[in-house]
Amino acid sequence: MDAPSGRVAEVGGRVCVNFCSNDYLGLANDAQVVAAFRDAANQWGVGSGASHLVCGHQRPHQALEEALAEHTGRARALLFSTGYMANLGAITALVGKGDAVFQDRLNHASLLDAGLLSGARSRRFAHNDAAALAAQLARAEAPRKLVVSDGVFSMDGDQAPLAAYLDACEASDAWLMVDDAHGLGVLDHQGRGTAYAHQVNGRLPVYMGTLGKALGTAGAFVAGSEDLIETLIQFARTYIYTTAMPAAVAAASLVSLRKARAEHWRREHLSALIARFRRGAAELGYGLMDSDTPIQPLLIGDDAAALALSQSLAQQGILVTAIRPPTVPDGQARLRVTLSAAHEEADVDRLLGALEGAGR
Ligand SMILES: *Cc1c(COP(=O)(O)O)cnc(C)c1O
Repeated sequence: MDAPSGRVAEVGGRVCVNFCSNDYLGLANDAQVVAAFRDAANQWGVGSGASHLVCGHQRPHQALEEALAEHTGRARALLFSTGYMANLGAITALVGKGDAVFQDRLNHASLLDAGLLSGARSRRFAHNDAAALAAQLARAEAPRKLVVSDGVFSMDGDQAPLAAYLDACEASDAWLMVDDAHGLGVLDHQGRGTAYAHQVNGRLPVYMGTLGKALGTAGAFVAGSEDLIETLIQFARTYIYTTAMPAAVAAASLVSLRKARAEHWRREHLSALIARFRRGAAELGYGLMDSDTPIQPLLIGDDAAALALSQSLAQQGILVTAIRPPTVPDGQARLRVTLSAAHEEADVDRLLGALEGAGR
């Protein structure tokens, strides 16, 4: 890639419209976010110098944690250097040998890996099936039970039934953790994510969000109660034993968080593009998935057919990579089309035109 993240990508000298980035709000190369990053690098340098608990936690990290706690309606938030590390750290801190962790079978790889690493008994339930989860919880005898789900599923774009999960968890004395990598910034009228959009924010004990997708920077956080965050500070090994993210990343994230919250036009424009794409793709007879988020996969099935369609689009100046197993289940290869507030209506029309040109 020879250009910054944005509506247009340059691949090996070839310019194309980019429909496969997670920069949903178009903030990754936003002038104010870039300026905040540059100014903070001038003030704070590049490396943080140490882990948070030694001497790497600088004022911009603290300010970002406070802003994230406020944005997500929690007492506290704790920064991690990546979402993968936030999930590993949080789950291994909360459950261990003798406990049980319950995961949607389509959960992100980092959640599944975290469950295995924790040593707790891992169980998987059918995708978005609250009744299946409730039945598993009712049978479980583990002293501590943690249910984990993506808020918005990264390869499907659909949303977890959070209210039904919370009913099941509350009835069985289990905790729910939601990984909202694809919901934060996008869902809810202020971009506060899936828990607000489903009106269950006050009931959800563990909220995890990432900064590298809609917020356009890098890093992640877990938000929750005072006790949760103190526990993670003491026990989350991926928080304790790693260098803190650069302060300039935190400073840039603070600006992008404010913009994501205040600039409603980004979400409104994105919604209009999503509707336009779904209408057009349905008219062309493509198999759309049950998604009203910026993740709009076209389910193809066969790996080679998905690759061929991706290549045909590339020849027409459109970048959408084919997603194949093991990232998705066997026989469910797809083109994971993602839309961004950086796109224009004409870009969506061009994508639809290319899909028509590629045929079924
Ligand atoms: C991208 C993603 C992660 C990992 O976040 P990084 O900050 O990229 O490490 C975790 N969970 C989900 C659902 C994701 O899509």
